[in-house]
Formats: sequence, structure tokens, C-alpha cells
Amino acid sequence: MAIRVYNTMTRTKEAFVPREPDTVAMYVCGPTVYNHIHIGNARTFLTFDVIRRYLEWRGFDVTFVQNITDVDDKIIRRAAEEGVSTAELAQTYTVAFRSAMDALGIEKPSRQPLATQTVPRMIAMVERLITSGHAYEVDGDVYFSVRSFPGYGKLSGRDINELESGARIEVDERKEDPLDFALWKAAKPGEPRWPSPWGEGRPGWHLECSVMSEQELGLPLDIHGGASDLIFPHHENERAQSEAASGTTFVKYWLHGGLLQVNAEKMSKSLGNFMFLKDVLAVYPASVVRLFMMQTHYRSPLEFSTDRLEEARTAYERIAGPLRDLEVAKRSRARERAEGSWTAGAWVSRLTKGIEDAKARFIEEMDDDFNTAGALAAVFGLVREMNAFMWEGPGIGAHGENLPVLERAAAGIKEPLDVLGIEIEAKATPASEYPPEIIELAVDYAGYDGTDGAEAVDALRKARDVARSQKNWVVADAMRDRLQELGLLVEDRPDGTHITYGR
Ligand SMILES: [Zn+2]
Repeated sequence: MAIRVYNTMTRTKEAFVPREPDTVAMYVCGPTVYNHIHIGNARTFLTFDVIRRYLEWRGFDVTFVQNITDVDDKIIRRAAEEGVSTAELAQTYTVAFRSAMDALGIEKPSRQPLATQTVPRMIAMVERLITSGHAYEVDGDVYFSVRSFPGYGKLSGRDINELESGARIEVDERKEDPLDFALWKAAKPGEPRWPSPWGEGRPGWHLECSVMSEQELGLPLDIHGGASDLIFPHHENERAQSEAASGTTFVKYWLHGGLLQVNAEKMSKSLGNFMFLKDVLAVYPASVVRLFMMQTHYRSPLEFSTDRLEEARTAYERIAGPLRDLEVAKRSRARERAEGSWTAGAWVSRLTKGIEDAKARFIEEMDDDFNTAGALAAVFGLVREMNAFMWEGPGIGAHGENLPVLERAAAGIKEPLDVLGIEIEAKATPASEYPPEIIELAVDYAGYDGTDGAEAVDALRKARDVARSQKNWVVADAMRDRLQELGLLVEDRPDGTHITYGR
């Protein structure tokens, strides 16, 4: 079974066949470092982090390159507002960007070139384009001539003549065609500048990606990624420059991520409806944020709200539940639940099948254009099976005889999540770390006579299930309230009371 990816260029899912077997050359447009990134930006970087992780897990050797745009109009403007140099401002937000990526669990790029360190190569590409008749100079500016590149508009599915009649293009009489875009901009007073054959100036934004991707990876790139709002004009222009300059295909597979929305509007700095990633991560663990984003396919729009984040937190707890239960059960040992018409053997076969099915489905879904939502559904299927085994089925067994299959199930849950970069904290709290009052509570409500915190919790769980089965709501509610006062989480689930502690 091959991996299939949706290629924006052909608007179809295609079998993924990289230019060389077992290796992937991947380029993703990086940030313009003039401010912190918001979580809409973060979604794009997360998408390509997951794609990279999955390809690596499938055995590909991935080289992942991402640029940093450290010279740009926005940087110049912001630096002037703050009264610092553009270099200082860019440095500050480059550091902030890298630390926010670390905090979200994004793997570091293989290489991360800076625009300002690539200027001589950019000048060389502009010269190549002028020589081959794809670009022209006017008063120290250099423009790319879109009419000189026959396939212009193909990536974004736009017709060049319709684009031209569009009213939104500002008219600059020095351009041969209103769609022509800047490769090189003559320096204005106070702006950062580099010497060039056309006088002092700086590169246009589109140019850097063409230059850096070719320099770091060679052509064609296997995967070029970015958010869908970069398709036009940014990626259309990158493609025109690169193919005009090299005479070869620029990219094999163009992958674009859907946008994060707030009330059905794109999250953006210009609309002011954004939240910085760092502020979201101050409230929600990275794994919860990742889970929230991956529950939607990467190409679909994703509506952002704190309600959705809370739902993701609950989903996270649902996954962690059986893993923690297993840890607790291992310590308090006997479960003595092997009853009913099923033998433990039938339960073991069922769970074993659940483990195999979950892995097969995970691969099937991820192979299908990285369907993380389907992949997570496979994980949740196994979570349900493990819960059933623990609570309706034989549990770990009186002598721990079911531990091997339960450990395999736990690993079967953790492995795909690990591929997705979701870490599940499932360590049961050591008994000594439970609040000491728990023993007293267990003595009062469950007739417990030991001194172990985990055992006390287990006794309380059983006693509360008994109270509930007898419809003794006064006792059941009082137990829940007392446990919650002590900081334990009490949940009523179809299979009975679940008590967790410690995050
Ligand atoms: Zn780019």
C-alpha cells in the first residue's frame, strides 16, 4: 500500500513517489519574524511536522528545510515603530519562534536558512532570470515578467487574463504588466540594503524560497508545503521563478494546509482575531493543542474556540484513562473480575485483535493523505477495547496473568500517538503522593484498613460503585465531593466510577 497525497497542482490524490527511493526532500515556508506567531500559523507548522514524523516512521529519510524571513516590509515597519534595528527585531522573534515551536513539540528543521544570509544567491538567480528574458530592471527595481512564463496561474487555477482584469492590482506604470512582481527592490532611506548589479537594495519575499529550497535540497522538491493562503500569489510566484530559472520542474507534490478560523473568518493579525501560540500553551499542554488540531483533517478549515480546546482536553483524558488504570492496577494487583460467560481467553483474543486492527487502521488512514482524524479514531477504538477489558472483562487477572496483553494494548495506544507527537502522561501517582487524607476517607466509606494510597483509591472506587448500584445517591455524591475536594477527578462512566489523580 502506497502513501497517497493530495497535490494542489493536479487537484487529485496521487501515489507518493519521491524523486529518490526512501528519501524525501521537503520544504515548508517559514515565518516572517516581526512578532510572535499566532495559533493559525502554528496549525500549518504542526501539519507539516506530523507529515514529516509520519514519513519518517514509514522509513523515509526526510530532509526538512524551512526558511526564516528576516528582512521584509513588515519587519522594517515594526522595527521603526519600536525604535530598534531590523536585525535586532528579527533576532528577537526568531528566538521566540524557535522556542514556541519547541514548546509545541515541533521537530527542528534539518536546516533553517535565513533570508539575510542568502542574498548573494538571490542576486545570482535574478541575474539568471534577466539573462533568460524572464525579468527586467527599472530604476533599481527588478520585476519578474509573468507573461514570459507560460504556465503562470496553473498552481492556483487562475487564468492570467482574468487576473489582469481584476480590479485589485495596483497600477504601477513602470511595470510592463500589472501582474509582474518584484524580485529585487531598490533601497529606500533607512532600509536594510545589499549591493547588487542594480544598485543597493533588498530581495523580494517570493524570491528567497525559490533560492533556499534549491540551494538546500536541489530540484525537484518532493514536497512543498504551506498554508492554503500562500498558494496565490506566493507559491505561484515561487514556481514561476524557479521553473523559469532552472528549466526544470520545481515541485513534485504541492501540499497546502487549511486555515484556522474564528467565527468562520480566517485568523490573522490584520483582522485582530488572533491568539498567540505562546498564550495558548500557557493554558493548554502541547499534547492537548496537537490533539485539538489533529482531530480535523489538515486540508479542512478548523474553527478555533476554547470550547473545542476543552473538548480536546477531555479526549486526552479519555486516552490517558486506561493507561493510568493499568498502572494503578499493577500496583494494587488483584482485580477479580473474570465473570460472565466469556472466558479470559476470549477476552484476550478480542483485545489482541483490537490491537492489530488499531495499528492497521492507523496506517491506512495516515497513508490516505495523512488523515489524522481517522488515525485518532483508530486509537480511540483501542482505548475503548482496553477499557472494556479492564472494567467489564478480566482486568489484569488475580495473578497478573493478563498483564502482557494489557501492556501490548497500552503500547498500541502510545505508539501511534508518539508518531503524531502526542505524549500521554500515564504514570500513576505513586501512593505516597496521594493526599494523606485519602486513607481516612477510604476507612470511612469503604472500610479500608491498609495504608496504601492507590489501594485506598481502588477501595473507594468499588465502594462508590456499590453505592450507585444501590441508588444510594447521598453517599455516592458525598464520596465524589470529598474526593474532588482532595483534588481527585471523579467520573461516572458507563462502566462505573473512574478516579484519577495527578497530571
Ligand atoms: Zn515560501
